[in-house]
Amino acid sequence: MAAASIITIGDELLIGQTIDTNSAWMAQELNKIGVWVKRRVAVGDVWEEIWNALDEESKHSEIILITGGLGPTADDITKPLLCEYFGGKMIVSDVALQNVKDIFTKLNRPIIERNLKQAEVPDVCTVLNNKRGTAPGMWFEPHLTSPKGEEKRIYVSMPGVPHEMKGIMLDYVLPQLPSLFNLPAVYHQTLLTAGVGESFLADMIKDFEEALPAYIKLAYLPNYGMVRLRLTGRGDDKAAVEKVVDERFAELKLLVKEFMVTDVDEPIEMTIGKILRSLNKTMGTAESCTGGAIASLITSIAGSSDYFKGSIVSYANEVKENLLSVSHDTLMTVGAVSEETVTQMVKGALAQLKVDYAVATSGILGPGGGTAEKPVGIVWVAVGNKDKIVTQKFQWRFDRARNTDLTVQNALNMLRKFILIN
Ligand code: ATP
Repeated sequence: MAAASIITIGDELLIGQTIDTNSAWMAQELNKIGVWVKRRVAVGDVWEEIWNALDEESKHSEIILITGGLGPTADDITKPLLCEYFGGKMIVSDVALQNVKDIFTKLNRPIIERNLKQAEVPDVCTVLNNKRGTAPGMWFEPHLTSPKGEEKRIYVSMPGVPHEMKGIMLDYVLPQLPSLFNLPAVYHQTLLTAGVGESFLADMIKDFEEALPAYIKLAYLPNYGMVRLRLTGRGDDKAAVEKVVDERFAELKLLVKEFMVTDVDEPIEMTIGKILRSLNKTMGTAESCTGGAIASLITSIAGSSDYFKGSIVSYANEVKENLLSVSHDTLMTVGAVSEETVTQMVKGALAQLKVDYAVATSGILGPGGGTAEKPVGIVWVAVGNKDKIVTQKFQWRFDRARNTDLTVQNALNMLRKFILIN
């Protein structure tokens, strides 16, 4: 199996100012096509460090992907370094120059010398046109021989800007790798479970897992109280791998049936959207502690206007009263974080937003604000329609961000289940 190394360049990565999302995305995409990411390295904008990283990774991998350090600013040294590393000289690339000119014409901005420099590349690379930015990608395929004979190794340098890197990976790198390296067929099937812990699941499907052939792996991918199960098959015969993975996946689905949210690799907000669209129903949210986070996820799906009408972010008690008709009495007696309040919030949202289903949240996500009776992490969630409302109390024990995510995911799962049976 072809091995890859990813080198990310930039001081900002080392000091934690930028989180290296590039490597994670690239690793996932490479994995999908059967490339094994063997190593990931981050280095600063320092000549020797980058040079040493190239030397070191050349010992480990046939595919070396580099991001960052290509910009027009003085600290970007990658391009001259690559030129020297591969023994070339800098020339102006017509393709890259035209691309820079086109971008500046579109932006209606004058080009300065610094921008034109972006079109300079080592004459020993193939230019990968960057349709989303001015720094071109560069593909180096040096002629290599060793005592074993001819060796194939490629180096691709891409901009650090994530969407520019993704464009170059999708347009050129990922489509070309299968024809250059002998990659196995890789086939995934994924399902999502909710309401069951990873260890309980592992016990439940122990026999199934043990009986899997060596070329099929089962991965547990837990997130926000839900667990994704992914079967991955690898082999030379694509059709055969797909057939066996599909058969095993059907078995797995039966085993975890009662906990399964979806049998496709998609987020739960997309699953809910599909269900609502198929039923021709609408939804809305009334959110206190989650501050619109549920609505934000639902509307992150293109086309959600088909089924999502809106949200009332009722953080303050007077908004719960005035916009959602939560009774003053309820707020004064049992308080905002209570089963009664979220129930009334659902009723208010159904009436105000004129939707078929509504979900409501109210809780104390921390770090402060708890009492002996209502400790930090307590959250009430309600979902319902005009005929029925169900509620659930959660008690989280994490930081504010994680408590919010857990509330959102669990509220969405309550909503999904409610819609399916009501
Ligand atoms: P530019 O033309 O913008 O200078 P570049 O190739 O020189 O492109 P960098 O200067 O290293 O890239 O980074 C450009 C932007 O991309 C910065 O905002 C940086 O924070 C971000 N970035 C760089 N590397 C990564 C990475 N590995 N993951 C996520 N973002 C990154």
